[in-house]
Amino acid sequence: MDDLYATLGVSRTADADEIKKAYRKLARENHPDRNPGDAKAEERFKEISHAHDVLSDPDKRREYDARLRFGGRAPNGAGGGGFTGGGEAGGFGDFADIFSSIFRNRGGGGGTQTAQEPAARRGADVEVEVNLNFEQAMRGAQVPVSVETPVACADCGGSGAKPGTNPRLCPECKGRGVRGRDVGSFAFSEPCPRCGGNGTVIDDPCPTCGGSGHTSTRQQIKVKIPAGVRDGTKIRLKGKGQAGLRGGPAGDLQVVTRVSPSRLYTRQGDDLVINVPVTFAEAALGAQVEVPTLDGRVKLTVPAGSADGRSLRIGKQGAPRLKGEGRGDLIAKLRVEVPKELSDAQRKALEKFAKLDTRDPRETLFS
Ligand SMILES: [Zn+2]
Ligand SMILES: [Zn+2]
Repeated sequence: MDDLYATLGVSRTADADEIKKAYRKLARENHPDRNPGDAKAEERFKEISHAHDVLSDPDKRREYDARLRFGGRAPNGAGGGGFTGGGEAGGFGDFADIFSSIFRNRGGGGGTQTAQEPAARRGADVEVEVNLNFEQAMRGAQVPVSVETPVACADCGGSGAKPGTNPRLCPECKGRGVRGRDVGSFAFSEPCPRCGGNGTVIDDPCPTCGGSGHTSTRQQIKVKIPAGVRDGTKIRLKGKGQAGLRGGPAGDLQVVTRVSPSRLYTRQGDDLVINVPVTFAEAALGAQVEVPTLDGRVKLTVPAGSADGRSLRIGKQGAPRLKGEGRGDLIAKLRVEVPKELSDAQRKALEKFAKLDTRDPRETLFS
């Protein structure tokens, strides 16, 4: 049987304060959050927690001291202890009491306490919105995103209980975290309503973390936004969400792009549409006009006799395709402008034109 006093590096006559100090120092150094993937630290952490669990509880400590004297055999009738019997050093029956807020009880059940393995926990998925202007959406961008990451609370060592106190076994579910319920001929198992499935209850929550056992830090990561995203595009980054606890995998980060509208372009699939104002004369006679694209100006031929609203397609000047290669097209929509004011010379010229234009454009309305 391991010497719990040696585990904490204190003498057998150490008082509660010394035990607490030694525990907190060691727990901090060996905490899995600080030593991800280090199995040895994890093992030490378990031992330290177990030692503290026993030695910080006057009843359990008395029982343990008695067992030390009896050479590892539990004296008969020792009540209230959390040992799993047999006098082995394993059986971290009470381990989960302390770190329940981080480590979920696995299995459990049975009348007496069973050994509970602290389970790794996957970090939560995180969704963040990033705001992009139209230009950024078309060209792609690197945007900083900050993600909250939980770390074990330094003040309570992750227990969630006010320093100097411990969570205790949930009296409702006896630490199992679940409650059975019979409905008709079905038996349901639901999370214990008293402890919320933790298996433990905290009477005095740690003021620093409010009883959750962890505080959080913000971590900045750079997210690469591919060219061609739209408003509402979702980009899933595996393992970039909240960090896992106890070596568990991190959650995913879902980035939702919010793209502000462009002054010039509207999107139609991967095509971009731009309104191009032309004069009446340009529309009638035909012209070469300049049109702005994402990559600069291009010349567009307006065919003679173009009606208002005519769409002309400029190949591969649209939005980059998110899926697949290449780009959509740019669609130039002609807007024939009618002059609001005319000079005398213009009026005369138009009056002359009107006399020559003998067609009746409303003919079809009455036929
Ligand atoms: Zn705390
Ligand atoms: Zn419970």
